Amino acid sequence: MEKWPIGVFTSVDAGLGVKLEVAHELGVPTIQLHAPAQETRTAENARKFLERLADLGITLTAVFGGFEGESYADIPTVVKTVGLVPPETRAARTQEMKEIADFARQLECNVVALHLGFIPHDTSEPLYAEVLEVTRDVCNHAKGNGQNVHLETGQEAADGLLQFISDVGVDNLFVNFDPANMILYGTGEPIEALKKIGSFVRSVHCKDGTWADKPGEEWGAETPLGEGDVGIETYLRTLGELGYAGPLTIEREIAQEPTRQKAEIGQAVQLLSDLKAKIG
Ligand code: MG
Repeated sequence: MEKWPIGVFTSVDAGLGVKLEVAHELGVPTIQLHAPAQETRTAENARKFLERLADLGITLTAVFGGFEGESYADIPTVVKTVGLVPPETRAARTQEMKEIADFARQLECNVVALHLGFIPHDTSEPLYAEVLEVTRDVCNHAKGNGQNVHLETGQEAADGLLQFISDVGVDNLFVNFDPANMILYGTGEPIEALKKIGSFVRSVHCKDGTWADKPGEEWGAETPLGEGDVGIETYLRTLGELGYAGPLTIEREIAQEPTRQKAEIGQAVQLLSDLKAKIG
């Protein structure tokens, strides 16, 4: 594959991505896919989806897990509801994440990714050890499928994430770096974080945003790519310095406004194409 193929985050019937047709109309050669709802994850649907991808000449680069009951309404709600951290839903979601990995294998995709949730900062907390254990469990299952697991960034600062990956201690756990999330969650300056985590970054989101007045307590604001505080040219230059050549997957989480979403993703494709021509 060429260096830095452009990608877009898509969904079928769950999650906030654009439809496959939008990726096709915008001429985008790669996608990440939010895992479809449980009843849709059948072998028959996997086969049909693979056929459509082949027809459109689009490559699937990662399947993202997501779960019923997750809410990104505000930061405290994320802590309570997202990922494999909340104890009440952990067992069922862990099982579902393994099923999503198996569905991804049917889609011939060797990367599964997820928002793990807020990992406790105090590594002596029992919850920290529990999250290590469940992450190992998912990674071992994915390994049986020949897959790597990518953790979406944002909910942890770079140092905490590095510590966590080291403590999990498996060889198929990596990072999907989302620079805007570092800003939106207030977990750190994204370029600095990228340099620290660099050796683990195996996929990325191209998303932008502006800092909140009280970072970490309230959300920052997501913006069209190039209009936020990430600094997209510096972002790509840093990825280049780190030797990252994988897909640049655009994510714009305004699924409730599909017309605007498509237009802004089109502008993002243009921006990334221009920057690739300049520095790629
Ligand atoms: Mg993201």
